[in-house]
Amino acid sequence: MINFNEKKLLIASHNEGKISEFKELLDFFKIKIISSKDLGLPEPVEDGKSFEENALIKAKSAAELSKIVSLSDDSGIEVDSLDGKPGIYSARWAGPKKDFAFAMSKINRMLEEMSAFSDNERRARFICALCLYYPNGNHEYFIGKIEGKIVWPPRGRHGFGYDAMFLPDGMDKTFGELTSNEKHSWSIDKVGLSHRAKAFSKLAKYLPNE
Ligand code: IMP
Repeated sequence: MINFNEKKLLIASHNEGKISEFKELLDFFKIKIISSKDLGLPEPVEDGKSFEENALIKAKSAAELSKIVSLSDDSGIEVDSLDGKPGIYSARWAGPKKDFAFAMSKINRMLEEMSAFSDNERRARFICALCLYYPNGNHEYFIGKIEGKIVWPPRGRHGFGYDAMFLPDGMDKTFGELTSNEKHSWSIDKVGLSHRAKAFSKLAKYLPNE
């Protein structure tokens, strides 16, 4: 087992929103959390072919440069009828202005153009891949998924990205209609709802054994 005795973890991200969400989710570990942004580390090129590969690129780069155990995440939404698109390109579909109203209508338009209106034809999932990378090269992945479907028009004002068009299975509210607490509904002894909360539950089970 890899030694995690420094009690310090580097969040391999420059995204303030992501860094504060990580800090919230990792609060109970009582470890010091810093980020790539705090250290002024360069952002690596994310040219992986999967969520895992991109998470690995980010965590490896941060751990090698800082010599600190690093945690990264890569996430996005996959729509089955669109052969898994936008997938790892979820952030990029919103363009440089991060226009997710545009990205959501692009998904809906593509589905309409192929006459995909049934629940089955609108199946989708959010995926979160976490990568914990140690400066000695050892690393672990923790993957979380949530299944659901694409709805139109978008519903709800909470959340970000594609939340307002994603209806999780078995629920009558989209991610955009759920508060952040409801969306993640996560604690150390409970598996949460969202893809990120599920990945963190797996990480939580792993870290105390360190
Ligand atoms: P990343 O920062 O490269 O991992 O980009 C993830 C992208 O996937 C985000 O910009 C969002 O577009 C989308 N995404 C990931 N998780 C969520 C979520 O929980 N809700 C809505 N959109 C999400």
